[in-house]
Amino acid sequence: MKVMKFGGSSVAERFAQVLQIAEDGGDDTAIVVSALGDTTDQLLRAIEEAREGKKGQSEPALDTLRALVDRSVKVATDALGAQHEAELRELVDRVTADLPRLLSGIAALEECSKATADRVLSFGERVAASLVAFGLRQRGRNAEMVDSGTWTVTDDSFGSAAVLWDESAARVRALAIGWHPATVYVHTGFLGRTRGGRPTTLGRNGSDYTATLLARALSASEITIWTDVPGVMTGDPSLVDEAYPVPHLSYRETLELGGLGLRILHPRTIVPLLESGIPLRIRSTLDPAAEGTRIDAVALGGTARDRPTCVTSLEDVVLFELEGSQKSEGIGIAPRALSALAEAGVDVWFASLAPRGNGIAILVARAQVDRARAALERVFAADEVRGALQKLRTTDDVTLLTLVAEAMGQAPNVAGRFFGALGALGINVRAATQGATSRAISAVVSQADTPAAVRAVHAAFNLSREQVNLLLLGVGTVGSQVLSQLGEQREARLRDHDLDLRLFGVAGRTKAVHRAEGLDPTAAHETLQREGAPWNIDALLDALARLPVPILVDCTASDDMAPVYLAALRRGIHVVAANKKPLADTFAQYTSLRAAARRAHRAYRYETTVGASLPIVETLANLVRTGDRVRLVEGSFSGTLGYLSNEVMAGVPLSRAVARAKELGYTEPHPRDDLSGKDAARKALILAREVGLPAELAQVVVAPFVPESILAHEDLGDFFAALEHFDAAFDERIRGLKAEGRVLRYLARIDLTQPVPTLEVGPVGVPAAHPATRLRGSEAFVAFTTERYAEYPLVVQGAGAGGAVTAAGVIADVLALSQGLRGR
Ligand code: ASP
Ligand code: MG
Repeated sequence: MKVMKFGGSSVAERFAQVLQIAEDGGDDTAIVVSALGDTTDQLLRAIEEAREGKKGQSEPALDTLRALVDRSVKVATDALGAQHEAELRELVDRVTADLPRLLSGIAALEECSKATADRVLSFGERVAASLVAFGLRQRGRNAEMVDSGTWTVTDDSFGSAAVLWDESAARVRALAIGWHPATVYVHTGFLGRTRGGRPTTLGRNGSDYTATLLARALSASEITIWTDVPGVMTGDPSLVDEAYPVPHLSYRETLELGGLGLRILHPRTIVPLLESGIPLRIRSTLDPAAEGTRIDAVALGGTARDRPTCVTSLEDVVLFELEGSQKSEGIGIAPRALSALAEAGVDVWFASLAPRGNGIAILVARAQVDRARAALERVFAADEVRGALQKLRTTDDVTLLTLVAEAMGQAPNVAGRFFGALGALGINVRAATQGATSRAISAVVSQADTPAAVRAVHAAFNLSREQVNLLLLGVGTVGSQVLSQLGEQREARLRDHDLDLRLFGVAGRTKAVHRAEGLDPTAAHETLQREGAPWNIDALLDALARLPVPILVDCTASDDMAPVYLAALRRGIHVVAANKKPLADTFAQYTSLRAAARRAHRAYRYETTVGASLPIVETLANLVRTGDRVRLVEGSFSGTLGYLSNEVMAGVPLSRAVARAKELGYTEPHPRDDLSGKDAARKALILAREVGLPAELAQVVVAPFVPESILAHEDLGDFFAALEHFDAAFDERIRGLKAEGRVLRYLARIDLTQPVPTLEVGPVGVPAAHPATRLRGSEAFVAFTTERYAEYPLVVQGAGAGGAVTAAGVIADVLALSQGLRGR
C-alpha cells in the first residue's frame, strides 16, 4: 500500500491534476484529502456569523455556506465537464445536508460548543473526499469516500483531539477486511470521533496527521504529501531567491524544523513515521515531475557534511537578558527564570546560559512579552532589590536564525561557517546556542539584519554555487569588454562552475547605477545611461559590502583610486584592478594598500596591470614566494609599443600605426601615455616592487618612444598632427636599424645584479638573435632570470594588450579570487 495526501489548495486549484496523480498511483493507493482551499476558515466564519448574528438570524451564515457549496461544485464541474454539474450539486447538497440545521441551531442558541464546531468543520473534508471519489469514478475507477472518523478514534478534546492509536489501528484493520482491492478509497483528513462516536477534529492542518496515521495502520511502504510547495525549502523563498527543496531530511531534522515554526509539517505528523519508519515525500502538484523532499529515518551524519540544510528565521521575538552581580552566587538565575516562564505559560524559543549559570538570555514570542516580563520581575524582585541581579534587559526587534542539519556536532566547522558567514557581513550575533540535540545551531540577530543573515547562512551551507558580486568602475575599453564577457559567459559559468558572477553595479565617470539583485551586464551600458545617478562611493561600497563575496573591479585609468580601495578593503570588499596608477604611486602608498588588504584578509589582485592577462605578476609573485632570487627581469611589457614596433618595422608610418593601435583598443586613452614610455615604466615599477624593491617611479630611467615635444600635446588632434610630422624622421631611423640587421623593440630591464638595482625602459635596436625579435603583433614578453632559472630564463609570452584580453584577465582575477575562497 501507498498513501497519498492532497492538500486543500491543490484539490481546489488543480482538481484535474489531483485526479491524474491519484489515478497514476494505482489501486494500491489510499488517498487522503483536506478541505478545498480555505473551506475550513469559511466554515469557522459561518459559525461566527451564526453565533454573533441577531438571535435566530442564520442568513449570513447560510450565505457563506451557499458560497462554499457553489465553489465546491464549480471546482469539480470545471474539471469534469458541465454535463456533471447537476449530479455534483446533488452530491455536495447531500453531503452538506445537515449543515443548515446545525448553523441555525448555533444561531438560535447564540453559542457554539467546540464539539458542535468540529461537527460543522467536518463537512469541509467530507465534501472534498466525496468530490475526489466522484472524479475518479468518472475516470473509470472504482473509488469510494471514507470518513476517517470511522477509524480515527480520539479523546474528546474537541478542536484538537488526541488520537488513540491502538484503537484506531484496530479499526483500520477491521475495516480494511471489507475494502476491495480494486477500489481506491478516498479518506477525509483531519477528522476523528470519540469512542462514543462524536465527531472531533485533529487540529488545524490535521490532514497530514491523518495520512501518516493511515500509512502506519496500513503498514504502507511510503506516503506522499502533495501540496503546492516543492518540498521543504532550504530557506524562506521570500528572503532567499536561490532557496530550493532539500532532497532529504531525517525525521529528527524535520521535528527540529517544526519546532522552529516551519509550517510545512506539524511535529505530531512525524510521530507515526518515527514509530514505523515509513518514508514520507513532500511533492508539489504544480510540478508533479519534481522529486520534492524525502523524509525518512536515515540520518546522514558526518559523512555527508556538505549536503543541503535548512535555514529558518523566526521573527517577532524578544530577547530577555538576566545577569547576576557578584552577590548572586548560588541564586540559580537560570532555573528560576525558566520555571517562572513555564509556570506563566510562556514558550521559550531559545535559552542560552552564561558559563556558571550566572546569566541567561531567553527568547520569547512578542505576543507573550508582557507575560514573560511580569513573570521574571515577580520571581527576581527581591534579588534585584538586594543587588544580586542587574536590571532585566529586553531587546526588541530580533530574529532567531537557525541552521538545522543532522551533521551538526559531527562535522567540523559547522559553527565556524555559520558564524563566519554572519561575521563576513558584519552582522552582530547577540546570543547563540548549538542545540543540545546537536541538530541545530541558532543565533539571535537584529531583525533588520534578517534578510542578509538568512541569505549569507543559506549560501554558506546550501549553495555549491557561489555568488560573487561585482562593482565595476570604468566603462571604457576594458570595462565594456568586462561587461560583454560577463554577459556571454554567465550561463556556462553557472552550469559548469557553480559560479554566479553578479554585476551589482556599474560606475562611469560621473554616473553610477546599482541593484542588489544584479544588473544585466549586456544592458548595463544603457541602464547606466538611462538610470545612472551621480555616484557616492561610500553609499555604493556600503551596499556592495552587504552582498556575498563583494568585489570592487577597477577598470578606470584614474589616478586617485587608492582611497577608494582602502575604503573598500576596510568594508571587507576585495579589489581587482586593471588600473596601474595606485600601484605605481609612491612606495608608501603601495605598501599601505597591500597592508590594508592583508589586514582586512581581502584580496587585491592586479594581474592585468602588466601584459594584460598574461600571467606575469602571478608568476613573479610565485618565484618570490617560493624563495627564488630574481636577478634580471627583461621584457617588452607594453603590448602597445610592441605592436607599434612591429608595424613600423613592416613599413607602416608611425602616425598610422598609432591611430590603428588606438582603434584596436591597444593604447591607453591618450596614446602618449604609451609612447612616453610612462606606461611601460609603471609596469616595470610594479614588477620591481613585486620583487621587493622599495622603488619609486622617478627611479625608472625612461627613454620615450618619440620625442618629448610630440608628447606635450594634450589635444589628441594636435598630437596626431605632430606625430605625422615626425613620420619621416622616424622612418629614417627604422631604415638605419634594418640596415644593421636590428629590430626595434621597446624594452624594460630590471637589473638586480648591480649593487644598486637599475630600472630602465626605452627603445632598443636588438640584434636578430634576441628573443624579443620573435614578438608578433601586440605580443608581450617577459624573461625572468633567477637563481633557479639561471641558464634558461622563465619566459612568459603572448598577446599583451587589448580590451578583450585585459577584460578576460580581470575576470580571471575575479575567478581566481572566488576559487581561493572556496578552496577549489
Ligand atoms: N482543513 C483543515 C485545515 O484547514 C485540515 C487540513 O487542511 O489539513 O486546517
Ligand atoms: Mg490545509
